[in-house]
Formats: sequence, C-alpha cells, structure tokens
Amino acid sequence: MHRYFTPEEWAVTEDHYQPALNRLMETIFFTGNGYLGLRGVPEEGAPAELSTPVNFVAPIYDLVKSYPDYHVRNVTHCSVNVACANWYGTDILINGIRFDPHAGKVREYRRTLDLNTATVTRQLIWEDAHGEQTALRFTRFVSMDDRHLAALTVEVCPLNWSGPVELATSIDASGVKDQMITDYGMLDDGGVLCTRTQVTGFDTATAMRALVSGPLTHQFVETTDDTVTLHVTAQCEEGHTLRLEKFVAVCTSRDVETAPAKVRAQAKVDESMTLGYAELHRRHCAKVAEIWQEGDVVIDGDPAAQQGIRFCILNMHQNYAGTDARVNMAAKGLSGPGYGGLYWWDTEMYMMPFFLYTAPEKARQLVLYRYLTLDGARNKARHYGYQGAMFPWVTIDGEERSGDWEYGMLEQHVTSAVAHAVRHYVEVSGDEEFLWQYGVELLVETSRFWASRVTYSTRKGQYVINHVTGPDEYAVGVNNNCYTNVMAQANLAYGVEVVRRMQAEHPAQWAALAEKLGFAAEEPAHWAEVAEKMFIPYDGHLGILEQDDSFLDRDPIVWRDVPQQDKPTGKWNWDRLMRSQALKQADVVLLQFIKHDMFDDESKRRNYLFYEPKTTHESSLSPCIHAIMAAEIGLEEDAFNYYLHAARLDLDDVNGNADQGLHIANTAGSWLCIVSGFAGMRQSCGQLSFTPHLPTQWHRLTFAMTFRGRRLQVELLPDAMHVTLHTGDALSIIVAGSPVLLQPGETHTIPSTAVAGV
Ligand code: BGC
Repeated sequence: MHRYFTPEEWAVTEDHYQPALNRLMETIFFTGNGYLGLRGVPEEGAPAELSTPVNFVAPIYDLVKSYPDYHVRNVTHCSVNVACANWYGTDILINGIRFDPHAGKVREYRRTLDLNTATVTRQLIWEDAHGEQTALRFTRFVSMDDRHLAALTVEVCPLNWSGPVELATSIDASGVKDQMITDYGMLDDGGVLCTRTQVTGFDTATAMRALVSGPLTHQFVETTDDTVTLHVTAQCEEGHTLRLEKFVAVCTSRDVETAPAKVRAQAKVDESMTLGYAELHRRHCAKVAEIWQEGDVVIDGDPAAQQGIRFCILNMHQNYAGTDARVNMAAKGLSGPGYGGLYWWDTEMYMMPFFLYTAPEKARQLVLYRYLTLDGARNKARHYGYQGAMFPWVTIDGEERSGDWEYGMLEQHVTSAVAHAVRHYVEVSGDEEFLWQYGVELLVETSRFWASRVTYSTRKGQYVINHVTGPDEYAVGVNNNCYTNVMAQANLAYGVEVVRRMQAEHPAQWAALAEKLGFAAEEPAHWAEVAEKMFIPYDGHLGILEQDDSFLDRDPIVWRDVPQQDKPTGKWNWDRLMRSQALKQADVVLLQFIKHDMFDDESKRRNYLFYEPKTTHESSLSPCIHAIMAAEIGLEEDAFNYYLHAARLDLDDVNGNADQGLHIANTAGSWLCIVSGFAGMRQSCGQLSFTPHLPTQWHRLTFAMTFRGRRLQVELLPDAMHVTLHTGDALSIIVAGSPVLLQPGETHTIPSTAVAGV
C-alpha cells in the first residue's frame, strides 16, 4: 500500500507538489466546521480534469429528478447536496504572469494540515518562465467558533525581482450550475452574493471583505452576473511581502436564526473584519483545543496509528456541527460530492456512537433528526402497505430517496438502527426526558412497522422476514437475514419495555401520546409475541449464525485466495456475485458487536473465523468492525491490522476513491476500534465495562470519554490499566470481568495480572 504522508503525530504534510493527486489532496486538506465545508482546492484553482471544487453548506440541499428502477417508481426525486459559491478563489498576477503551479517551476513546496489547530498552510516558491522567483504562502481555516465564518490569507513576496502584483479575490458562483443568483452587492473592500436552490428555494448569502497590507496598493470591486471580485494592485519590492486577509461569512435561509441570510452574512463579515484575522484564528483554535481536551486519543510508540486516529477525530467535528437537528451527517460529511450528501444508517451505527461518548449533545441531535423526519418514514411504510414508520435507506429531507430497489426497498434494517440509536443514546446519556418526549414515538412507530412486516411461517411456527438486504450488500433480496431479524426482534422488545414503563411511570404523557398515535391496547402484547417467536437462522452443525436462509448453499469463497486479477468484485457479473458467499462488509460479525451480550465468546470466535475469510471489505464500514471483534476474541494481529486499515483508510487512499470525499462511517469506526476494540469498552443497560487488549506494538494508549454526564480518562499500559473519573458522581464499572467503583477525582489501577488472560 502506498503511503502519501510521513507519519506525524499532529500534522498531515504534503512535502512535494503532486498535481496528479490533486483530487485526493482536496479531500485530505479539507477544512470545515460541520456547517461550512471547504475542500482543499488551491486558491488559484486547478485544472478541471484534476479538481472537484465543490464546497457545501450543510443545511442546503435540493431535489432533482431521479430515474428509479421499475420497482421503486414512487421515488421520483432525489435530495442532493448542492455546491455553493466559491469564496476562496484568488487569482494572482505576478509581474504580469498568472501564478499557475502547472506552468513554471514549483520549489520548496509544503502543505500542512495542522491537526492541533485545524488550519491548513501551503507555502512554495514559484519560478516563472523568466526565472523570477516568488515565495507564496497561504493559510486557511473554517471557524469552529462561529460556524458561519471562514478566513484565509495570501502572501506574495518577490525573491529576485520587483514589480507589480495583482490579486483578484472573489465570491464566484459561475460554477454553481444548480442554483439561481438572486442578489449581489458591493462594498469598498468586498461584497455579497446570494444564490437560491431551484426546487427547495433555500437562499445562501456569501459575504466577503479583505484587508491588504504591505506595499502601497490600489483596490476596487467589480461585479459580473455571477461574481463579486476585489482587485488589488501593488508595486512590490524584492523581499517585501504583500499580504491579503480575506474574511468570509455564509448564512442561509434554512438556519436556526431567522433574519434574512444576506443581512446576517454582511453583519458577520463586518464583525470578523473588526476582530481581525489573528483574533478570529485565536478563537477558532480555542474551540479546536476543546475538541482535543475532551476527545484526544494518544498512542505512544506508533506515529502512523496516531496520525490516523487524530485525522479521524478532527474530521468527525469538521464534518458535523450538531447545532441543528434538521441537519444530519452525510456519508462523506461535507468533504466531497460522493453519495450526494445523503444520510444513511451509517449515522446510527457508526457516527452516533462516536459523538455519544465524546460529545453527547451532538448524538442527541442525530437521533432527534429521525424524530423530526418521522412523517417521511410513515409515508414509506404506507407506500409499501405497512404500519408505523419505515425509515428511508437514504435521505436528506426525510423521504426515501433511493431509486435502487435492492437497497432503497430492501435495506430495511435502517429502521431498527433508529430504534437501537434511541436505546443507545438514552442508556449512555441517561437522558430519559428524551425517551419520553421523542424516543417512545420512534419506538412505537418502528415496532409497528416490524410487527406488520414479518410473516408468520406456519411450517416453522415462527415469524420470518422475507426478501430483504442486510448490511452485506452482496446478498440481495434474501430471506431471514440474521442481522435484520435479531435487530427487528430487539426493536420490538425494547418497544414493549418502554411503552410499559411509560404507561406505569408517566401515565398522563402516555395517554396523550397514545391518543395521538391511535394506539391500541393490545399492540405491545403482539410485538412481544413477534419478538419471542422471531426466527433466527442458526446452523447447529457449524455452530454459527447463518447470515440468511440460503447463505450456506451459496458458492464458498476464501477472499484472500481469489486471484488478484479477479479483484475487486466489481469485475464480476451480478449473477456470480449473488451466487457467491463473498461478503461486501461485516454482517453477522457486526451483529455480534452490536448485540454483544446475546452471544458468548465461543460463538463470537466461531462466527468471526467463519465469516472473516469470506469478507472483501469493499465497504469501508467493514474493517473497523473486524478490528473490534478480532480484539475481543484475542486475534491481536488481525485487530491491529484492521485498525490501521481503518484509521488510515483515507490518508492512504486504501479504497482508491477518497478523492470523492472522506468515508465518515469508517472515520467514526476507527475511534470505535480504539475504544471498543483495544480498550474493549461495552455498554449494556447503562453498565459500562472494559476489557483491555493493548497491541504489543504500542507502549501506551489513552483516551477520554463521557458516560452519563461523567468524564473518564482511560489509560492502557503493557502492565496495567488506569481509569480516572474526572467529573461527576462515583461510578461502578466492570474491568476485565470484575466490578470497580470509581470515585470522583480518583484513578483506579488494574494490574495486568488481573487483566491478563481475558
Ligand atoms: C455500504 C452501506 C453504506 C453506504 C454509505 C455502501 O457501500 O454498503 O452499508 O451505508 O455505502 O456509506
């Protein structure tokens, strides 16, 4: 595997100019704050064939006509993210020649993403055709302090010549094909430009102002139909630097704030000019410091592993703000156009847990999003003739937006992922208010769905779930996908438990809800019966859960033995893929992680050893789950290798498509490898436990996490494990099978003798 970046603990550095990798670098040098996203497109732009210069604003999406399969003709439109105006673009004319790294020579090139401050710096020396050398330096950040703000600097210093330098920095909507330009305005040192999405009618206002320092300059603002540009001309002397500071504010009509977007954007950009670049950056860095204070993972003895996890942690926060529950986290976050900005089950099963244990208020927003979009899920259930809520496989606006029947119609496990997320959130946060106010309605509607979705098999005397696609997308339209059945069963059982609790503990609130939902008294008893009689495919001979009814009859495969020229499975035809036992991603192995307390060690070991060799990991959702389960069953080498695979997936472009954006489920999953894998953290009904498995390559692993309003610090050493309760009341946890009572401010040490052999 190629490594593009030298392992560094706090940075990702590109140390030579490599235009052919520009698209990948745009993803890696992405900066964002979950509201604004900016790919690492150079200020001067890049040739169209090497660049994907899209920057997204999280709340903004549009509806476009889709061309669904015959079976899902109801999905007439897809919701998609839309590129917003380019606000970073800056043309630089050096002594009459346009700065273009593709022409002339690039020397001493260095671009760094400082993980500690979420700031990108690019510096280089450029030599034009006449041998004139110029030092250029660029910095940029997207503010974590005020989600509407971003700023950048451009510095130009002639090294062996004197003459004019012209800068043209703009807000440019010429590449924004999918929006209308509705308004623009000029200021002495900048301007504002407004766009509107075609169907959804959302407005985005982008405002900029700039401050120039250095040699004497002359400046003016010019507008065209789709750009506002500030032109700066300066007479530069050899060795003297011309510096431009650009301030940008973006607001939309879909924000929580209601004043017109243009008014707010202008006010914000004025405010940032007053504060100045240094102060804005200081405030941004202070917020990034909080991310590290609350959620850093420190690995001693392995810079590659360290770099990978810090890159992942930062990108979780760069790609999700959590300030507006109507906005969820896309599969690529804001980092690229891949998957059209759609939200998937990735949220509940991967992203939500990361936030739940590090920034629980963000986890709450992600679950609340599903409550706010219940009507879309009800529409889908109604369309298929089911009851309750059938959550969309992909969506932004809450309606089903997948035009592929094999996923949009069949990947029904997303509905139980929502119920699972409610439970997970409530158990870990202790936020029961949420349960009564929002959770119960989600549980009633999802339980109703499953109760109407199952079929009673008279032959088996059990309930079955026919014709679904489980997590493994290389097994389409199967009967009784084990994961789906168990998760549906859990959904129903939790639905019963919570409804009964609410009836007993909050009768008035329940009565109002029951009326709203037209609840029939006999519903929970029926759900309980379905849950109890759910068919769970199991092969007694092999002692494993069977992935689905026909899995064991399909063509066996050992993925590592498949000749290289026959990989990936994209080279196979669909028929061969569907007949084969090749797995795209963790399915039963995922189930045994999620429902860990249902299975014993031996079952986990047998299932892992059976399914792992058949798994292609062609979905990035897979390696992290294998790292976790390998750690649990004691396959240290597998755990370590799968962790590195996951944590460096985008940095090393393992999947070869990181140019389209980061793989955010994997980004979150890499953190789960550390916490649930190497520290063996599990949670069951509010009981927290750890079973450490420190890789022998590492000298020390530490991380912080929150649990029920408490802050814990966990440290794994080769000879001991330390757990410190920093804030909150005493907490009883389980370490390596034994109870431990943590007192506030105290560090508990568990020697390796107690841990060994687990
Ligand atoms: C995976 C799905 C996942 C989706 C978005 C697909 O390749 O198979 O499980 O939800 O990508 O990340």
